[in-house]
Amino acid sequence: YSINLDPIYLQDMDNIIIGSIINIKDITEKVKLENMRTDFVANVSHELKTPLTSISGFVETLKLNENIDIETRNRFLGIIESESDRLKRLIDDILLLSFIEKKETKSIELVNIYEVFMEVYEMTNYFAKSKNINVSYKFSDQNISILSNRDYVKQIFLNLIDNAIKYTPENKDVYVEVYYDKNNLVIKVGDNGIGIPKEDIKRIFERFYRVDKARSREVGGTGLGLAITKHIVKNLDGTINVKSELGQGSEFIITIPKKNFLK
Ligand code: ADP
Repeated sequence: YSINLDPIYLQDMDNIIIGSIINIKDITEKVKLENMRTDFVANVSHELKTPLTSISGFVETLKLNENIDIETRNRFLGIIESESDRLKRLIDDILLLSFIEKKETKSIELVNIYEVFMEVYEMTNYFAKSKNINVSYKFSDQNISILSNRDYVKQIFLNLIDNAIKYTPENKDVYVEVYYDKNNLVIKVGDNGIGIPKEDIKRIFERFYRVDKARSREVGGTGLGLAITKHIVKNLDGTINVKSELGQGSEFIITIPKKNFLK
């Protein structure tokens, strides 16, 4: 709480107090937001610093050792390349998140959900095939369109499908289901992959939160995908939930109120 106490003086008398105005303000939300902002800046700095330190370390090594054999040199260059890619992914995700948060919605158009999904399906197909993962899909209606921004809808599918493939071992399955219930459009993306521990489920939508940092890094994660997805869904007045069982798989369920889409 922030408490302000202002004395009230008798008119024209500086030394006679006849009462006080006490102003009590609940500033919990404000402080919480301030802390979140500080934490975010600290996290961003840390996340950016890690690949940068690695890049400058390997550049330095290459500069200092002229006689390095070609194989080692190529390995170092490979690391520099993948760390630069990681930096780019991080910066892209951070910028996207801040853009969405500001609610500076890009152009709104009628977006056909099935078409956007197919685009993402093609984009992720190579990755799924490389792990022999079968991505199945079921649309109750291929003509469902939503009034939104195409890139945002694409991000929802991309983040969830990419995660499902990333966190599912080889030879398993990923599925996508889209249908209407009474009041909502429902999008389900599920897998029979590694699952999420119960205690982590409520935190996975936080920025940079990862159940297993090393694993996420290994598969090219930034820890921002679900935070971005959650914000986009929120902008559509929707909800996002997860059902997950460790070692069995996960299912992400998005609902978007009907008023936001046209048929
Ligand atoms: P990342 O870039 O690390 O994948 P996300 O924000 O997309 O970041 O996801 C946050 C964390 O949630 C992941 O690091 C992972 O631990 C967990 N996660 C997300 N999707 C799945 C899934 N389908 N199966 C298991 N764990 C998942």
